[in-house]
Amino acid sequence: MSDTVIAQKIATALDQAGQRTTRPRRLIADRLAELAARSTDFSIDDLWQDLRQQDHRLGRATLYRSIEVLLQQRLLDRITYADGSHRYHVCRDNTHYHLTCIQCRRFVEVHLELPIEQCATVCAQTDFSLEGLSLTLFGRCAQCRNELHVSMQPASFPASE
Ligand SMILES: [Zn+2]
Ligand SMILES: [Zn+2]
Repeated sequence: MSDTVIAQKIATALDQAGQRTTRPRRLIADRLAELAARSTDFSIDDLWQDLRQQDHRLGRATLYRSIEVLLQQRLLDRITYADGSHRYHVCRDNTHYHLTCIQCRRFVEVHLELPIEQCATVCAQTDFSLEGLSLTLFGRCAQCRNELHVSMQPASFPASE
């Protein structure tokens, strides 16, 4: 999806969700398109602070509602960290999962084949209809592993000269 297409889709989704006024909707859609173009992830708070500088009347509730709509439409993607906190990014394809670093919070998108048939089986056994699935992998990235290794070196001894 190109950035223009993404901006358009976001605006349309917010439109359909019945946002009363045009201005916040456009503000949110434009900002998200910018973030998408730069492949930047963000917290709702980051986004709110940003948008408030452009329109101080923008309510937090409006932003939360918009984010919810975009998540449902799978135009936004929620990244979950080991501590339970979240960041978001604009989705270009929604067939991926996130692998996040428990130390520096960097994340990568990974593609995995999940045992959907197995999920269907347990749902059938328990009489549930499957409506969603979430999976997040937690780990430690190479850089953080290296730092850990360095900091575990014996305390610096005076170099023998
Ligand atoms: Zn993602
Ligand atoms: Zn890391």
